[in-house]
Amino acid sequence: MLTFNQYRKVTSLEEAYELNQKKANKIIGGMLWMKMGARNIGTAIDLSGLGLDKIEEKEDEFSIGCMTSLRDLELHPGLDAYTGGAMRESLRHIVGVQFRNVATVGGSIFGRFGFSDVLTMFLALDSYVELYKGGIVSMDQFAAMERDNDILVRVIVKKTPLSVAYLSHRNTKTDFPVIACAVAQTEQGVKAVIGARPYKACIVWDNDDILKEGISLESAKAFGEYVADHVKTGSNMRGSKEYRSHLIKVLVRRGCQVLGGEQNAN
Ligand SMILES: Cc1cc2nc3c(=O)[nH]c(=O)nc-3n(C[C@H](O)[C@H](O)[C@H](O)COP(=O)(O)OP(=O)(O)OC[C@H]3O[C@@H](n4cnc5c(N)ncnc54)[C@H](O)[C@@H]3O)c2cc1C
Repeated sequence: MLTFNQYRKVTSLEEAYELNQKKANKIIGGMLWMKMGARNIGTAIDLSGLGLDKIEEKEDEFSIGCMTSLRDLELHPGLDAYTGGAMRESLRHIVGVQFRNVATVGGSIFGRFGFSDVLTMFLALDSYVELYKGGIVSMDQFAAMERDNDILVRVIVKKTPLSVAYLSHRNTKTDFPVIACAVAQTEQGVKAVIGARPYKACIVWDNDDILKEGISLESAKAFGEYVADHVKTGSNMRGSKEYRSHLIKVLVRRGCQVLGGEQNAN
C-alpha cells in the first residue's frame, strides 16, 4: 500500500520545487502509477492548484500543462487535427476512459516508462518539456536524461509541418503494448519511433533515404526492415524479442502506408 505522512497542495512552483528536493517527498500527478507500489512517502506534493491542467493552442505551438489529463489530450480538437488523429490513437487504448481522466501528462512523461504510448507519440512530434529549473529541453534529450528532482511544468509541441501515424500492438485490449510505433514524415525526412520494445522509446531516422523517392509498398516494407534492424528489442511476459522485431517490421510498414494515403493498411 502507498502511504503519505503529509499532503501539501502547493501555491507556487517554487514551493513545490523546494519540497521536492527532499528524497522522501514526491510530486503527485494522477497517482495511478505511484499507487501500484508499496511505499511510504514523506509529503505528497499536489500541483493541482496551479492552473497547469490546460492545453493552450497558440499560432505556432501547443502548450500542455503537466496536470492535463490524458483524456483531455485525447479529445483536444487542435491536437487531433494537427496529428491527423494519431494523438487520439496513441491514447485511446490506455486502460479506459475513467483511468485517462485521472492520469496526467506530467506523470506519464516524467516517468519515461519503457511501455509508454505517450512518450512514443510525443517523440514523433517536434516536442519539448519545460522543467522548472532545467528550462526547455527537447523531448529526446529529456527521455535520455537521468531522473532528478526537477518539476515538469509543461510539454510544448511546435506546429512544425508533419504527417504522423500511430500504431500499437496489444495482446489483449487495455493491456500494456507489446510494441508501440509512430512514423512521422517531417521536413528533415521520415522517422520511426519505437516504444515498449520493451525498453524506452527510441527514434530511427531514414538515414539511407529508403523513402526518398516516395512511399510504395516496397519502400514501406524496406523501411520496416531497416527500422527492425536498428532497434534493440527484448523479451518479457508479453512477447519475445523476435516477436517484437517482427511487429516492428509490420507496424512501421503500415505506418508508412498510412502516411502514403492508405487508410486501412494491413
Ligand atoms: C495499470 C496501468 C496500466 C497502464 N497502461 C498504460 C499503457 O498501456 N500505455 C501507456 O502509455 N501508459 C500506461 N500506463 C501509465 C499511465 O498512462 C500513466 O502514464 C501513469 O499512471 C503516470 O501518470 P500519473 O498521472 O498517474 O502519474 P503519477 O503516478 O502520479 O506519477 C508518476 C511519477 O512521475 C512523477 N511526477 C508526476 N508528475 C510530475 C511532474 N509534473 N513533475 C515531476 N515529476 C512528476 C511522480 O513523482 C512519480 O514518480 C498504465 C498505468 C497503470 C497503473
